[in-house]
Amino acid sequence: MQKRAPVILVHGGAGEWPLERRDAGLAGVREAAEKGFRVLEKNGAALDAVETAVKVMEDMDVFNAGLGSSLTIEKKIEMEASIMDGKTLRAGATSLLSDIKNPVHLARLIMENTDHVYIVGEGAEKLAQLFKLERRNAATQSRLESWNKLKEQFKKGKLEYLPKIYKLVKEHPSLFQLDTVGAVALDKDGNVAAATSTGGVTLKFPGRIGDTPLIGCGTYADNEAGACSATGMGEIAVRLVLSKSVCDQMREGSSAQKAVEKAIRTVNRRIRDTFNHMGLIAVDKKGDVEVAHNSPNICHAYMRPGMDVPFAAMQAKIIK
Ligand code: ASP
Repeated sequence: MQKRAPVILVHGGAGEWPLERRDAGLAGVREAAEKGFRVLEKNGAALDAVETAVKVMEDMDVFNAGLGSSLTIEKKIEMEASIMDGKTLRAGATSLLSDIKNPVHLARLIMENTDHVYIVGEGAEKLAQLFKLERRNAATQSRLESWNKLKEQFKKGKLEYLPKIYKLVKEHPSLFQLDTVGAVALDKDGNVAAATSTGGVTLKFPGRIGDTPLIGCGTYADNEAGACSATGMGEIAVRLVLSKSVCDQMREGSSAQKAVEKAIRTVNRRIRDTFNHMGLIAVDKKGDVEVAHNSPNICHAYMRPGMDVPFAAMQAKIIK
C-alpha cells in the first residue's frame, strides 16, 4: 500500500475565547497536536493519535473537556466523548460521566470491548469499574466562577443560547436547584480517525446529550472519505448530522476545505436560531486538513512532517 504523509489537526473548542485564556489554549492545542503527531511519526495508528491528543486536552483545565468541564444547570459534571476508526467504521461513545479522568478512553474501551457503540450512565460506570479507570473531580475553580456568572445572566433571561430552558425554569422553578476538544488524523497507512470530548454547554439541562458523543454529529471517520470533529452549539450539529455530512462531501471528491466551508455555510443558511456558533475540523484522504467556523474563534493546531512545532491559531476561515 502506498505510504502517506501523516497529519493531525486538533481543536480546543469554538466560541469566543477570552483574551486571558488564549495563550493557555494555544499552548494546549500545540501540545496535543505534537503528542498526537509523535504517535503517527512512529508508524502509529490514526486512532491512537487522536485518542492521545484528546487525552492531553482532557488533562488540561483550560478546555471544556475532562478536567475543567462545564457544569449543568444543577451544577453537576456530565462529560461525554466519542471516537471513530475510519478503517473499520467501528466507533465508541459515552455520556453522563461525573468523574472519569479520560472520557475518550472509556469511549475507546466501549468500542473495543463491547458489541455496542454508545453506553451511558450505569453501564458506563460498570465498565469504568471493570477496567479500573482513573477518576478525578473535574470541577475547577474557574469553571465554578464562570458557572456563577452565567447563572446570573440566565436568571435575567440574558443567555441567548438557552431561551427555552430559561422559559421552562421560570415556569417550573421547583424542578431545578438551580467550552470541547477534538482531533482528526491520517496515518502512514492511509487510515483516518476522529475523536471528540466535552463537558457540554454550561448550564445545560441534566441529561442533555449534545453532538459530541453522537456518531455522525460531533464525530465521524471513514477511510473512503476522511474524518471530522465538530464543536459549538451541539444541537445544531445534531440537527444537521454535521460531521457525517462533511465526510459525505469528501467521499464525493470535495477537499477537506470545501467540505467544512460548505457545512458551515449550510449552518448559516438553514439554522436561524439566535445562537448558531459552530466550528469544524476535517482531514481528507489525501491528508489535507482544514478548519472552518462561524464563531469568533476556534482554538486549533496541526502538525505534519517537516514542521518543527505545530501551527496553532485562534481563528481560521470565518464563514459568514
Ligand atoms: N459541542 C459541545 C456541546 O454542545 C460544546 C462545545 O463544542 O463546546 O456539547
